[in-house]
Amino acid sequence: MDMLERTAQSNGDLQQTLLAEPPTIEPEQFISAPEADQSAYPLTCYRHAAVQTGLRCNRCNRHICIKCARRTPVGYRCPDCIRQQENKFYTGLVWDYLIAALVAFPLAFAIVVGFWYVLFEFGFISIFLAVVGTCWVSGFMADAVHWAVRRRRSRYLGYVVAGALMIASVPFLVLSLLWLDIFSLIGLGILLVGGIKIIFARLY
Ligand SMILES: [Zn+2]
Ligand SMILES: [Zn+2]
Repeated sequence: MDMLERTAQSNGDLQQTLLAEPPTIEPEQFISAPEADQSAYPLTCYRHAAVQTGLRCNRCNRHICIKCARRTPVGYRCPDCIRQQENKFYTGLVWDYLIAALVAFPLAFAIVVGFWYVLFEFGFISIFLAVVGTCWVSGFMADAVHWAVRRRRSRYLGYVVAGALMIASVPFLVLSLLWLDIFSLIGLGILLVGGIKIIFARLY
């Protein structure tokens, strides 16, 4: 092997070295300081991978974006932790929904029928009666269901009772529209809007 050949070979070795893949450094290696654990990377909301955030849930320590964070008296919490805490609060049983429906539907129909006749009997005054009546009957309905489920709390109990009131109102709303009875429409509207508000306030 002469001098020229050897130079060519070492050039080839050098070229090969240069062409070889550069050593790969994983991004994790840059931030794997002792205190940076797996949960600290990436710094994005655990529910929205595209949203960067510096905010953490103060219970589970996961990163949450400002949209997901719920402010509590003890600091920011993630929706999962909020839900876990709420689950401890809700003591209701599955069949409480059935009990609520069985109590709420007949009551709702009786209430709407009662409203319907009052609204026809008293004309303009019926609007005021509707306001007073709504407070009374929707409170009564919520209390009756609350009593029937032995005061157990369920997440969607209010939806069942409000749903009963809405479903019971539908045929009468349709009739009011067909007959273009403006007082009935307003009265039933008051019952629905006000009643649902009261029901949710009582059956959280
Ligand atoms: Zn959390
Ligand atoms: Zn988020």
